Amino acid sequence: MEKHRDIDPAVFRKEGHEVIDWIAEYLENMDPYPVLAATKPGQIKASLPKSPPAKPDPLPDIMNDFRSIILPGMTHWNHPRFFAYFSTTSPYAGILGETLSSALNVNAMLWRTSPSATELEEVATDWLRQMLGLPNQFEGVINDTASVGSLCAMAAAREHAGLKIREKGLAGRNDLPKLRVYASEEAHSSIEKAAIVLGFGQEGLRKIPTDDAFQIQPAALEQAVREDMDAGVKPICIIPTIGTTSTTSIDPVKEIAEISQRYGIWLHVDAAYGGAAATVEEIRNRFAGWEVADSIVVNPHKWLFTTFDCNILYCRRPEVLRQAFSLTPEYLRTPEEAQVKNYNSYGVALGRRFRALKLWMIIRSLGTEGISNAIRDHMSYAQQLGESIRQNPNFELIAPIPFSTVVFRYNPPNMKGHQNELVVNEINEGLLNSVNETGKAFLSHTKLRGKYCLRLTIGNLKTNWEDVQLTWDLIQEKAVRQLVA
Ligand code: PLP
Repeated sequence: MEKHRDIDPAVFRKEGHEVIDWIAEYLENMDPYPVLAATKPGQIKASLPKSPPAKPDPLPDIMNDFRSIILPGMTHWNHPRFFAYFSTTSPYAGILGETLSSALNVNAMLWRTSPSATELEEVATDWLRQMLGLPNQFEGVINDTASVGSLCAMAAAREHAGLKIREKGLAGRNDLPKLRVYASEEAHSSIEKAAIVLGFGQEGLRKIPTDDAFQIQPAALEQAVREDMDAGVKPICIIPTIGTTSTTSIDPVKEIAEISQRYGIWLHVDAAYGGAAATVEEIRNRFAGWEVADSIVVNPHKWLFTTFDCNILYCRRPEVLRQAFSLTPEYLRTPEEAQVKNYNSYGVALGRRFRALKLWMIIRSLGTEGISNAIRDHMSYAQQLGESIRQNPNFELIAPIPFSTVVFRYNPPNMKGHQNELVVNEINEGLLNSVNETGKAFLSHTKLRGKYCLRLTIGNLKTNWEDVQLTWDLIQEKAVRQLVA
């Protein structure tokens, strides 16, 4: 007889239905929840037992603790007024996709460990490739995050340089020149992290200055490459960004691609956030040049309404990626390996979640038009907000708005030319905190050329103009009080 080591299936059914009901109510009305958790550091930990239970805890008790202890310590990323960092969405189809994926609980490391998981990954990433208007030479690999996707791309670039680093490593070799990767000073920190992990070191990343629109100046990039080559340093990879983290600026990829082709350097495009907007055909010219890249990262879990986590690394030369990572011990050999894709050979991890299921379900459930229309709306709300900011003499826009992120600060005329920028910065920091403390909206910040700025990014499927307007009203109201205080 089967020994019941898990909970009673009848209890699972009952609690399962209740969980779905709770999820539906939660997502239908998120107003009662503060967007940013109003929790003090250590508060949640202090409410939890220090040791695990020896005997099974009943599922209803566990669910009660979820509601009373865990939930109050959550920041609500699915809230329509979550405007911080890059907004995300977990649509209904994504929640169901994740639920099914956890029920199936497959490890998609080899084709045979679930043929559907592998083949759906090929199909879903190819659907998205078509939606982005990328050529069909690009093949997609799903990773957890863009940080890992870019790390893999940079490892492929290193492999492509033909320095036998895979075999011999880097340490203790006097036959190796210094290696360099190039990105703008606005590039995401994941590029620098990857440079550290891959042995280029922080000095192996050359940060190219940006212009007034926070974009790489191609001439400065080319000069840096030439200087390095003259000094015997070997360029490995150039990494422009489409949609930088602070301002969502777009590096001139076309000109940068010409430089990378001129000097035979791998071109990796970080489009983790901005890539989503390539689904909007009328603005695809902003992406000019990315179609000749060697690799590109796009994050469906940012502005493509895909349940966290899901990154896609598109690679024009998947065989190089494979060369960098493939390692097949005897116990992973399969008779069909010449005919199929074993995805573990294209990245760091052996074990792989079935992320393609939710991506496929979300694309089907929203439709390509539903996705591009939502992105179009978000960009138009951002322009509308930008216009309101321009019309208010007490505020200033600090960066152009190419996508759906607005970077601005409070700077009323009586503070303009203030001798002490630090005071303006402090006032804006106070303003941000006072807005976030209301729990009605959550914005984040950045610092540009020493200026502390508020950063409002629109990207949740449920966000309407009313949410943006309400938040803008709140910011203006709090700003006046900030000055009085
Ligand atoms: N690249 C850019 C431009 C980003 O803005 C971010 C995160 O915000 C990343 C990469 C890293 O993304 P992930 O959290 O998926 O590693």
